[in-house]
Amino acid sequence: MDLKGKRVTVIGLGNSGVNAAFLLAKHGAKVWATDAGNSSELKKTGEKLKARKISVEIGAHTEDFVKGSDLVVVSPGVEDSSQALKWAALHNIPVIGEMELGYRFCKGRIIAVTGTNGKSTVTTLIGDILRAGKADVVVCGNIGNSLCGEVDNIKKDTWVVLEVSSAQLERIERFKPRIAVILNITDDHMDRYKNFYEYFNHKLKIFRNQDEDDILILNYDAENLRRIKGLARSRVLFYAKGAVAVSGYDVAAYVKDDWICCICGKSEKEVVHLNDIKLRGVHNLENAVVSSLVGMIAGVAERPIRDAVRGFTGLRHRFETVATIEGVEYIDDSKGTTVDSTKRALESCEKPVVLIAGGKDKHSDYTVIKDVVEDKVRHLVLIGEAADEIKKALKDVVSVHEAKDMNEAVDLSGRFAKDGWIVLLSPMCSSFDMYKDYKERGDKFREAVDKLKDRLDTAKA
Ligand code: ADP
Repeated sequence: MDLKGKRVTVIGLGNSGVNAAFLLAKHGAKVWATDAGNSSELKKTGEKLKARKISVEIGAHTEDFVKGSDLVVVSPGVEDSSQALKWAALHNIPVIGEMELGYRFCKGRIIAVTGTNGKSTVTTLIGDILRAGKADVVVCGNIGNSLCGEVDNIKKDTWVVLEVSSAQLERIERFKPRIAVILNITDDHMDRYKNFYEYFNHKLKIFRNQDEDDILILNYDAENLRRIKGLARSRVLFYAKGAVAVSGYDVAAYVKDDWICCICGKSEKEVVHLNDIKLRGVHNLENAVVSSLVGMIAGVAERPIRDAVRGFTGLRHRFETVATIEGVEYIDDSKGTTVDSTKRALESCEKPVVLIAGGKDKHSDYTVIKDVVEDKVRHLVLIGEAADEIKKALKDVVSVHEAKDMNEAVDLSGRFAKDGWIVLLSPMCSSFDMYKDYKERGDKFREAVDKLKDRLDTAKA
């Protein structure tokens, strides 16, 4: 990609946009960078960019800033409705996403992982497995550090384990991963997309440019993924959480007699024993199966795969036990930001649950979780903007309470929960109505649990 002397505008100045701007500048482009936000953090970012001779516009986008560009590079957080993108279209300026830009400069072998839920877990575990196999690995993308920011660390033989969101796939052109993985596609982001199919189709772009030399890995247990097999030019492999013998599907990894087994050539290899998996829940079994399969394809031996799975204790804010107080287990699943992820979290609870949910509504259908709520949840404590919607959907099957903040939600839950129960924060919603992100929400939950513990300890003393 020849950028010398080209004027390139970057829209959106979070981690992705800033790294895109630096990469563009390094390759000789005249970079202009714009963000409609006005926070003090952004102003500091603006100063950093200016120090690298990048023109900066913060607080609003203007037409003059965008027009006259040879190329526009967009951060994933920017939606199609953005005025800056409308001006780009008006002036016929080509637009690509930050990940596409990173791809153009990426020399390594990409393993791209997408799905509605489980992306970060699987991306991290694959990274651990490859590292255990002594491969050169860079883990990046939607997980936090953008591809543009990592390209300098990537060599020809590097495995790039890239977490990919639907927003990043919206604006790809040539992006072509060596291995693409789709974990599941369920209802999400209905505030960004017109309907489920629009979201679904963006996810499928992950294999759009693949050819016969590439591999697409799909979850056999997700019916809507089974059906797309015929759409790929690449070799399609399935993984399953059970032992499946089916014709017409190349099921390359599955669970049999308590072992995760992978097909290698014509032989079946027992790779990981289920006792080696430290994470709870069937969804995490699926995550271990697919990660093991990717490891085998990348040439890692069974032993290091097993060691990596055994050593993987999960990521923060994903079904993380933060305390046990008077026999009640408090679990932080703040990253459970979709209805399906909360369903999976509840299915992983073997005891009665007090569920804390709510946050910024993504126009999700909360009724789909009714059965598991009726089965597992004794009390539902709601916070945030989506409280009314969730209450409407679930009040027939569970007793519903509202709380003004996390402290009150945890206090109420602590009062309801009996010895042997679980208090689970798994919100089904994003966090931006009350918190900076899901991490801050999870941290507030933990703080509230700590306070509750202190109070109970003091009362006992
Ligand atoms: P993502 O990066 O896609 O948001 P994470 O790995 O961060 O996914 O997990 C987010 C939440 O999704 C977890 O807290 C868990 O409740 C749920 N989850 C994890 N893996 C899966 C899976 N394979 N299928 C469904 N839900 C999952």
